[in-house]
Amino acid sequence: MKEIVLVKYGEMVLKGLNKKSFEDMLAKNIKRRLKVLGKFSYFSAQSTLYITPQDENIDLSDVLERLSKIFGIAAFCRACVCEKDFSDISAKCLEYTADILSGAKTFKVTSKRADKAFCMKSPEICAELGGVILDKFPHLEVDVKNPEVTVTVEIRDTNAYVHAENIKGAGGLPVGSSGKALLLLSGGIDSPVAGYMMAKRGVHIEAIHYVSPPYTSDRAQLKVEQLCEKLTEYCGGIAFHCVPFTEIQEAIKDNCPEEYFTIIMRRLMMEIAQRIAEKDNCLALITGESVGQVASQTMAAMVCTDAVCRIPVFRPCVGMDKTEIIEISRKIDTFDISTLPYEDCCTVFTPRHPKVRPRLEDIEKAQNSFDFEPLIQKAVEGTQLKTFSFPK
Ligand code: ATP
Ligand code: MG
Repeated sequence: MKEIVLVKYGEMVLKGLNKKSFEDMLAKNIKRRLKVLGKFSYFSAQSTLYITPQDENIDLSDVLERLSKIFGIAAFCRACVCEKDFSDISAKCLEYTADILSGAKTFKVTSKRADKAFCMKSPEICAELGGVILDKFPHLEVDVKNPEVTVTVEIRDTNAYVHAENIKGAGGLPVGSSGKALLLLSGGIDSPVAGYMMAKRGVHIEAIHYVSPPYTSDRAQLKVEQLCEKLTEYCGGIAFHCVPFTEIQEAIKDNCPEEYFTIIMRRLMMEIAQRIAEKDNCLALITGESVGQVASQTMAAMVCTDAVCRIPVFRPCVGMDKTEIIEISRKIDTFDISTLPYEDCCTVFTPRHPKVRPRLEDIEKAQNSFDFEPLIQKAVEGTQLKTFSFPK
C-alpha cells in the first residue's frame, strides 16, 4: 500500500503576517534532514506538509524518527494513499487501520474535503465510513467526544489519504526562525539541556567551550565535541568555538583573592563569549545555570557575572531542579556523555571557600587590580573553530 507522511505545523500557525516565513523555514529544515534518505516531493496546504516518497526503498520509520527531532512540528503521521473513490477509500481504510482499530474500544471518523468537487460531503463520508468500520469491527463503539482512535480521511486534488495515528512532534519553533545565540557549553549535564531548550524556541545555536590544558585533558574537549554532535540532531549544524583559557585562569590564580576566583573566571568567560558572539552575529548568550545549584549560581553571583554582559544572557534551566534537567538530558540522549568523568576548567583552581554573596564592587576591585585585556584578546585570537552537522 502506498504511503505518505503528513506533518502538522506547530505554534507558528498562530503567527500573523510572517507565518509564511516560519513555514518556509520549517520546510527547509525538514528537507535538509530527509535529503539523505532519498527523494521526496513536498506539498503544503492548511498548516500541513504532505511528504511523498519518490523512491521505493525509503523506509518511512527513518523519516518519522528524523521528524520527531525537528522543532516546529506539532504532530506527524503516516497516511495511506487512496483513489478518490469511496469504495477504494473504505477498502484501504479497513486494511490500513486494522491493527489500531482491533486494539481500541472507541473511535470516530473525521473528514477534510479540500476538493469540493468530490461527490460526497464531509458528514456523509464520516457516516458512511463509520458504518463500514462498525460492520468490520463490531466490538467498537463510536465516541465523538473522546475517542481512542480518530480515523481521518482527507480528500485532496489528486488523491485521498487515510490515517488513524497522530504522533506528537517536538513542538516549539523552527530552528533559525528566532536568530542566533551562543551557548556556553561545558561537559556537564545542564548546558546541553539549555541549548536544546533555546533551539526549541527557534534559536540557531553556536557553542563556545573553554579549555585549560594541561589542567584539562584532550578527552574533556572530545567529550564536549561529542555533546555538540549529539545536539545537532535537534539543533541542526553547530559552529563550535574552543577557547584556550589556561593563561587567564593562571592569571586569576596569581593575581586575585581566592574566594573570588570562580566569579572572576565566569566574568572573563562572558567577556570572551560576547566578543565571539559579536563577530558571529549571535544576539544573546546561553548558559546552563540554575539558581542556587552551586556557589557561582546564587543570584548575587549572577548579578556579578551579568554586570559585564552587554547582550542578554538566557538561562533556560534557571528555575529547574536537577532532576528535571536530568530528565530532559536523558530524553535528548546527552546524559551518558555528560556523565563521563573528565575535568572541566571550572573545577581547576576552585576556591576552598567561594563567596556565595559576592558584592559587585569587591569583585570589580579585585578584577581591576590586574590588566586582563591582553590575555582576553589573545584567547579570542587563539579560539579554534570546528563545525558539526547532524549525523547522516
Ligand atoms: P553544566 O552541567 O552545564 O556544566 P554546572 O552545573 O556544572 O553546569 P558550572 O560549572 O557552574 O555549572 O557552569 C555553569 C555554566 O557555565 C554551564 O552551564 C555552562 O553554560 C558554563 N560553563 C561552565 N564551564 C564551561 C566551559 N568549560 N566552557 C563553556 N561553558 C562553560
Ligand atoms: Mg559544569
